[in-house]
Amino acid sequence: MQSSKKPSSGKGVLKIIPLGGLGEVGKNMTVYEYEDDIIIIDIGFNFPDGDMLGIDYLIPDISYLQDKKDKIRGVLITHGHEDHVGGIPYIMNQINAPIYAPKLTCGLIEAKASEHPHLRHLKLNVIDPDKDKIKLGAFEVEWFRVTHSIPDAVGIVLNTPVGRVVYTGDFRFDHSPVDGKKTDISKLSKLGDEGVLALLSDSTNSEIPGFSISEKTIADTFDSIFEKAKGRIIVASFASQINRIQLVINAANKHHRKIAFSGRSLLRNIEVAVRLGYLKIPQGLAIKVQDIGNYPANKVVVMSTGSQGEAMAALSRMARGEHKQIKIGKGDTVVYSSSPIPGNESAITAVVDDLFRRGAEVIFDEKNGSRTHVTGHPGQEELKLMMELLRPKYLVPWHGEIHHLIHHAQLAQSIGIPEENTPILDIGDVLEITKDKAIKSDKKVQNGVVLVDGLGIGDVGEIVLRDRKVMATEGMFIVICTVDKKTGRLLTSPDIISRGFIYMRENEQLVNNARGEVKKMMIRRDGEPLPDWTKMKLKIRDHVSQYLYSHTKRSPMVISVIIEV
Ligand SMILES: [Zn+2]
Ligand SMILES: [Zn+2]
Repeated sequence: MQSSKKPSSGKGVLKIIPLGGLGEVGKNMTVYEYEDDIIIIDIGFNFPDGDMLGIDYLIPDISYLQDKKDKIRGVLITHGHEDHVGGIPYIMNQINAPIYAPKLTCGLIEAKASEHPHLRHLKLNVIDPDKDKIKLGAFEVEWFRVTHSIPDAVGIVLNTPVGRVVYTGDFRFDHSPVDGKKTDISKLSKLGDEGVLALLSDSTNSEIPGFSISEKTIADTFDSIFEKAKGRIIVASFASQINRIQLVINAANKHHRKIAFSGRSLLRNIEVAVRLGYLKIPQGLAIKVQDIGNYPANKVVVMSTGSQGEAMAALSRMARGEHKQIKIGKGDTVVYSSSPIPGNESAITAVVDDLFRRGAEVIFDEKNGSRTHVTGHPGQEELKLMMELLRPKYLVPWHGEIHHLIHHAQLAQSIGIPEENTPILDIGDVLEITKDKAIKSDKKVQNGVVLVDGLGIGDVGEIVLRDRKVMATEGMFIVICTVDKKTGRLLTSPDIISRGFIYMRENEQLVNNARGEVKKMMIRRDGEPLPDWTKMKLKIRDHVSQYLYSHTKRSPMVISVIIEV
């Protein structure tokens, strides 16, 4: 692969620009740009590292799109996992384009959006991946079904003026999927026969040999766990693992246990999935979590969130003894039906230990050779199968950390795709594709993360608790601005008070620079109308938080105060 020395004029060039999801697993978002038309695939979020207390989510930086918003013809979503849809409530206020996705994905997006009252009305369009073909500017879009750990997952085909580009989305080949929907092999092979210029494919498990294991195998494990358990069973998984939830429901039904669900996001997703027909709960099986006390322990299953050790999730509250309805004790069996997302291991271990302390039996993945979780991503043989079906000229490894991408590229080379046709991209890179070349540009577009602090979302109890934790571990940083009531101008230099964050005398420069940042934000031109001070306060808080984080890698609680005199 060559690198271009000159920036291209853009005529007749398809640009593929990842704004997230490469060099990481999370916050997927990709821009496809052909002359005056742009489409976006997926808008996900990522969870912050343990050292970013007080920050709820990380979303992609979309500065690149700021002056191109009128070119955006549509947003295509591959499936309902948070790393593909989580950023929508925060980013779609800035993008006024229709969203296209299959039925369940649209339902999950709609339910999520309803919890964000300030989000503009989303133009959601349900597509049928088996039939639909639509035109969005220079792009003709088609879809194909893929098996993943959530129903209605799709891959996307973009027929562009330079050729056909296929993005697999998250996928696997499972010949007995829980929802009966298999990856559409016949459509893939037809697309391959017609010709594929570039394939962007899921690299998450490119280092794992062989085929992934069928989701159905978990059913057997659940069976034997349910058989043996003497008391309550608590199964923890992700709120969006709809297929897994179905397996737990099936096991509860078979073993004559009632099932209760704990966790707000879990309840929300279940409501949508049941309403749209993607989840089947036999009549009378589900009970409210506050009613589990009315049933003997061996007649109850609780499904909960918190498999990643998230401090506020239901399972973590149970482990700390803070869950209102569920007190964990001897005889309880807790089953983890998920694998740890890298970075969450120590938080998970802490929860597991607390559960053991309370006397529960805790079952991890593959303990005693049993399997309580399988991956939703393709192993090496499945990746090869995808390449063999589509026979692309270029294989561009997608969705993964750099080592995943490189191993995926090597796999492609092992089946005959030349190395120069397997470009490795990182976030912000631009892949320029013409009819006969694919070149990684020397220039990157602006990229990075935007921190989302979900204040105002969730209940007060959670916020207070979180604030306390932030102050305890990261300290606080207070900015006080005194402004003239009439002109809105600063009367004095902003005052800064800091506790537990830095020693101010030794960090004079940082404090002065932060003060300078605030001053810049407060500059007012003659005749400019007075700003909305509430919004201004939030803007100062966000800006100072990001400034401090980028310079210290710490996230103290930032409080901004504006006093009008
Ligand atoms: Zn996924
Ligand atoms: Zn994903």
